[in-house]
Amino acid sequence: MAPTATIFLDIDNTLYSASTGISAAMGKKIHDYFTSLGLDEEEASELHMSYYKQYGLALRGLILHHQVDPVDFDRKCDGALPLEDLIKPDPSLRKLLQDIDRSKANVWALTNAYRPHAERVLRILNLEDQIDGLVYCNYTQPNFVCKPDAQFYHEALEKAGVSDPATCYFVDDNRINVDAARALGWGHVAHFLEKGLVHVEGGKVKEIGSEKLGDGNNGVEVINRLEELRKIWREVFK
Ligand SMILES: [Mg+2]
Repeated sequence: MAPTATIFLDIDNTLYSASTGISAAMGKKIHDYFTSLGLDEEEASELHMSYYKQYGLALRGLILHHQVDPVDFDRKCDGALPLEDLIKPDPSLRKLLQDIDRSKANVWALTNAYRPHAERVLRILNLEDQIDGLVYCNYTQPNFVCKPDAQFYHEALEKAGVSDPATCYFVDDNRINVDAARALGWGHVAHFLEKGLVHVEGGKVKEIGSEKLGDGNNGVEVINRLEELRKIWREVFK
């Protein structure tokens, strides 16, 4: 019987820990990209944050307001990260994915990154063969969508051949992305929260878990280790 469930995994800061420092390295590359457009340090920081907040990705603001070529941006930012020095395969994570019962669930990656970065991370982590499909942000499309746009999630379901969002599982380190999936009726959603670690969001350093969340979890499970998926998603593991 074909699998009836689909698991969607975020990639960045989910399949590797925020402790790798990749978000800081990424934030620095994006900041340098802003300053390369002739903005001074302060303007660059302000716009970086405001575009990130407003559009989900700084890049979308850069395209809309600065006519930036997204492929050039990707090459100079994500493409220029020394990922091979920052992340390495984690045998326990590989085992976790291997222990998912593939007769019950397909496993997809769902990322706001462009395809080359997504594939590179999966390759370095030695997880490529564990992923059945990839939903990424297509930077070459004018007005491309990304998480947390509802359209991006609809396209993910279409791409993965899912007709009922209730059969979806999703884990992401960004609470806004998780809440968006939940609001669209995705059945099982988890927020990967490495409380106490620091990461960089919109170019600013932030302690993870320091933001105030709304009352109640609204059906969102909060985990601080991916291993906990075995427990909260027991029915799709062997
Ligand atoms: Mg992430």
